[in-house]
Amino acid sequence: MVHTNYLVIGSGVAGLTFAIKIADKFPDKTVYVVTKSNEDESNTKYAQGGLAVVVNKDDDSYQKHIDDTIICGDGLCDRTVVEMVIKEGPKRLKELIEWGAKFDKNSKGTLDLGMEGGHSQSRVVHHKDQTGYEIERATLAQVHQKPNIFVLDHHFALDLISKDNVCRGAYVLNQHTNELITFESDFTLLATGGIGHIYGHTTNPKIATGDGVAMAFRANAEVKDMEFIQFHPTALYEGKSGSQFLISEAVRGFGAHLCTKNGERFMSKYDERGDLASRDIVSQSIDSELRKSGDDCVYLDCTHLNTENFIKHFPMIYQRCLSSGIDISKDWIPVVPAQHYVCGGIVVDLNGKTSLENLFACGECTRTGLHGANRLASNSLLEALVYSDKIYNYLASHKFSDNEENSISEFKFEKKPQIDKNYISKLTLDLQSLMRQSSGIIRNDIDLLKAKNQIEIWKNELEQLFEDHQITTEIYELYNMITIGNLIVDHSLARNDNRGGFLKKN
Ligand SMILES: Cc1cc2nc3c(=O)[nH]c(=O)nc-3n(C[C@H](O)[C@H](O)[C@H](O)COP(=O)(O)OP(=O)(O)OC[C@H]3O[C@@H](n4cnc5c(N)ncnc54)[C@H](O)[C@@H]3O)c2cc1C
Repeated sequence: MVHTNYLVIGSGVAGLTFAIKIADKFPDKTVYVVTKSNEDESNTKYAQGGLAVVVNKDDDSYQKHIDDTIICGDGLCDRTVVEMVIKEGPKRLKELIEWGAKFDKNSKGTLDLGMEGGHSQSRVVHHKDQTGYEIERATLAQVHQKPNIFVLDHHFALDLISKDNVCRGAYVLNQHTNELITFESDFTLLATGGIGHIYGHTTNPKIATGDGVAMAFRANAEVKDMEFIQFHPTALYEGKSGSQFLISEAVRGFGAHLCTKNGERFMSKYDERGDLASRDIVSQSIDSELRKSGDDCVYLDCTHLNTENFIKHFPMIYQRCLSSGIDISKDWIPVVPAQHYVCGGIVVDLNGKTSLENLFACGECTRTGLHGANRLASNSLLEALVYSDKIYNYLASHKFSDNEENSISEFKFEKKPQIDKNYISKLTLDLQSLMRQSSGIIRNDIDLLKAKNQIEIWKNELEQLFEDHQITTEIYELYNMITIGNLIVDHSLARNDNRGGFLKKN
């Protein structure tokens, strides 16, 4: 058993920024960060567009950013949360810069601000088209300098340890040795990110299997709003399933147009903001065009843009397109909507506290009330930064009574046969296909009910297999994805009004 003061599960922006602050404040306390892949693998690393922050107070204001966020959230945002997050933005940005993160500047030497869908002003602070990579790099460099932070990569958190509504730590699988470690912690932070792989077609990397939300749900923590899945309108279409490369919204902010294969621009038919409408509207519009035409994709036309400037702003997108034989100065980019972000998750209060004592959650795995029915582009890195700071402040400024000692049990680990890998990959593909079909951009109750029954059958099947088979990362990820599928379907069935990213047509 390992005892630690703070157990952080996940090494994206949410987990790392919390770890840095708490380790600095309490140099005599231990902070363990467990993460299931390489230490930098996360949704954070792939964030392109940037961080929405009000920095130019001449043209922009907190009120404008607040209004944009609330319009995008379609009536379901929590105004107190929105105001708090947006007003804290500049301080959190300053902190990132002090930690060494670099952001692009314009010719006047001030921060270059990108424009994205749903924003009424240019306010997206960025590092070329690799903002998340830069944030991950800078925060990991800080983490490595702290002697009281221990990062354990390739360590997979299986389940929380909870008793009488108090979280006492987590069971963690060392993926190198298959050894199971019991972590007893005073405080546990879930910072496990997104759920994309449940859909197969997603902009998220493979780690995004909803583990934190599933773990919290099994431990009876409150989970809400899982029906609000954001589909990014413009993932590169290459005719295959799996993680899909994102063509950032900022490319449309830069002047690119969506069109059909005949070159017809269609967005103004659906929304007066045209190509710069919010993501839910653009995804639903593309879906509608594809249903009408029967085509596999629509196109993003950048051919009228200044290529040199495009390369300066979007070097990674330019190169990635080129490697697929698309020269953006001459060719249109084929794009389709793909799962991108989950707005719901583990319910937390203004201090990042979950409904379980001593369990906190931060980042994409949470439901804070900021996004409502739809996230405004580039508000999620900001949300993670603000909430990790809130959790840090809460823990740093409160006195807590000591936990009772020796009251948790070690995980009983017996060597058992492994479940056939083909079974796991086949069931994963079946689940992904069911989720796309039943819980995609447009849903209906009949398909949702069928999906609910099927998911229940798979859940029971897996739970039986657990009894006499070895626990592995792959089987647990599948179990978590099935739990998440169940939540998305249940919450979609329960919602009867179409809001933001949620559209049901019965
Ligand atoms: C392609 C792409 C582009 C994006 N662009 C933007 C953007 O421009 N602006 C913006 O604001 N947002 C953007 N987002 C969203 C944003 O990147 C994420 O919402 C945010 O980075 C989430 O941070 P996080 O720390 O909560 O989770 P993540 O960064 O996903 O980190 C989760 C961590 O938890 C670990 N983990 C998960 N499960 C377990 C487990 N069981 N055991 C141990 N470790 C586990 C993972 O390995 C990972 O280290 C983008 C996302 C993608 C995918």
